[in-house]
Amino acid sequence: MFCYQCEQTYRSDEGAGCAGAKGMCGKDAATADLQDILLYVCEGIGQYLHRARGLGARDIEADRFILFAFFTTLTNVNFNSMKFVELIQQASLTRDRAKALYEKASFAACKYPETLSGAAAFVPAKDMSSLLAQASEAAVRKGAEVFGEDIVGLRSLILYGLKGICAYAYHARVLGQERDAIYEAIEHALDVLARRESDISALLDEALSIGRANFIAMEALDAANTGTFGAPAPTSVRVTPIKGKAILVSGHDLKDLHAILEATKDKGINVYTHGELLPAHSYPKLKAYLHLVGNYGGAWQDQQKEFAEFPGPVVMTSNCLIEPQPRYRGRIFTAGPVGWAGVRHIANEDFSIVVQAAQALPGFAEDAPVKTITIGFGRDTVLGVADKVIDAVKAGAIRHFFLIGGCDGAAPGRNYYSEFADEAPKDTVILTIGCGKYRFNKHDLGTIGGLPRLLDMGQCNDAYSALIVATKLAEAFGVGVNELPLSLIVSWFEQKAAAVLLTLLALGVRNVRLGPTLPAFLTPALVDVLVEKFGIQPVGEAKADIEASLSRAA
Ligand code: SF4
Ligand code: SF4
Repeated sequence: MFCYQCEQTYRSDEGAGCAGAKGMCGKDAATADLQDILLYVCEGIGQYLHRARGLGARDIEADRFILFAFFTTLTNVNFNSMKFVELIQQASLTRDRAKALYEKASFAACKYPETLSGAAAFVPAKDMSSLLAQASEAAVRKGAEVFGEDIVGLRSLILYGLKGICAYAYHARVLGQERDAIYEAIEHALDVLARRESDISALLDEALSIGRANFIAMEALDAANTGTFGAPAPTSVRVTPIKGKAILVSGHDLKDLHAILEATKDKGINVYTHGELLPAHSYPKLKAYLHLVGNYGGAWQDQQKEFAEFPGPVVMTSNCLIEPQPRYRGRIFTAGPVGWAGVRHIANEDFSIVVQAAQALPGFAEDAPVKTITIGFGRDTVLGVADKVIDAVKAGAIRHFFLIGGCDGAAPGRNYYSEFADEAPKDTVILTIGCGKYRFNKHDLGTIGGLPRLLDMGQCNDAYSALIVATKLAEAFGVGVNELPLSLIVSWFEQKAAAVLLTLLALGVRNVRLGPTLPAFLTPALVDVLVEKFGIQPVGEAKADIEASLSRAA
């Protein structure tokens, strides 16, 4: 195995990358290799779909398959090697269909179809051991000795950006929002990867195209979430348990949460959100369920302790699963793309087995003291008070905005983000998205001009909301986003963050501070390009970075 797709990848003086029997996340070598093979076959699907599209033929089921397949390979999503053997066979059949579609469209257009090689012609074996023997053909760093690390790093940036876009587009799709432009961009990028493009500027252009397509994916997801559940509104959420039977729902999937709320209606079971599902409480159609009683625990990396202590079943939707521990392995369930060998998986949104588990388990014996936090400052809410915000900026009451957004993780350097929030001067506003906020969202940062200083804009999946607010404020002030008194402090962990970063770059946003460490797949030469073209900076000391941000704005 070789994997360096996330921030926690193994790092040593010799270089970075998880390459032993298991990655730092617990992904074993067989699963990692099978994931590479799955994506390689998907590249072949993309080669045919891209060409078929050029001839006016499409296969939306194949596009949908790619979204799901890519999503399963994100960090902390699916660790079940047998699932990947199954998905590779499905991918192979899907590719055969895409090939037939392309050939039919070619003949219909009186053209000879191209004979494609590489991923398009790769024949995956049927069983695990034979598949593993084929892994070198699909390895992420294949060709590094010929093309060099910069090319391999850029291809990886595209591949990981694709993973992020597929995750967002999958979430949007399950709620009925699809955009053909996203599929077109994915097919194009898969074709670029499959033909082993090695021109730096062509690869950089492709990465930015993925960033632009990801903006469309985030827009689709925003439309899916707000169209289905209403626009998030400021909401006070209880963060301490109350007496009674309980189910904990983690991950990012609002649709699964909704299905669980329906399945538990009038059954005397309280439903709690965990991690990135916290923003669910701010959607009108979800908070209407009175048994959605609160948020339990913090960010994903604390789940092994928190799930062990939770007195009911836990459902992990979409992503950020860590190895289930014996204390709760029998009462954790996975859904959607998530998987772990031996852990029960919920298919077709039938959560009745989870309801039965909740009824059989003790639940909380008593109420804990009440403690609440306020969330729900999505774009509608923030733009609803835009006049107030603009007046406060013009009057000097608000000096600067910091968007402290992105993933959390276990690395010690992540205290930077809580320090940053705590040290930011009182005349600054902190916008936040993603689970990095768990480091400071229970701190009392006070108010400013009648608004809370800390405005929680939602999940990492809600980055669109933050971009729209920045764009509208820039319009209102008559400047570009880079001229706003706004600094972006982005904590990355996995591949959705890579996609969002590409979107920021594609939109021309400069001076993003990225941390806690820079992606291992970006070589020093690639970092230099990003610094020079986009002003990307690694995070430093919180106090110094605050001062630098404020002086840049001055
Ligand atoms: S996902 Fe991250 S931790 Fe897991 S194997 Fe890959 S780089 Fe390592
Ligand atoms: S913000 Fe990133 S790390 Fe956090 S839960 Fe979402 S995807 Fe996972």
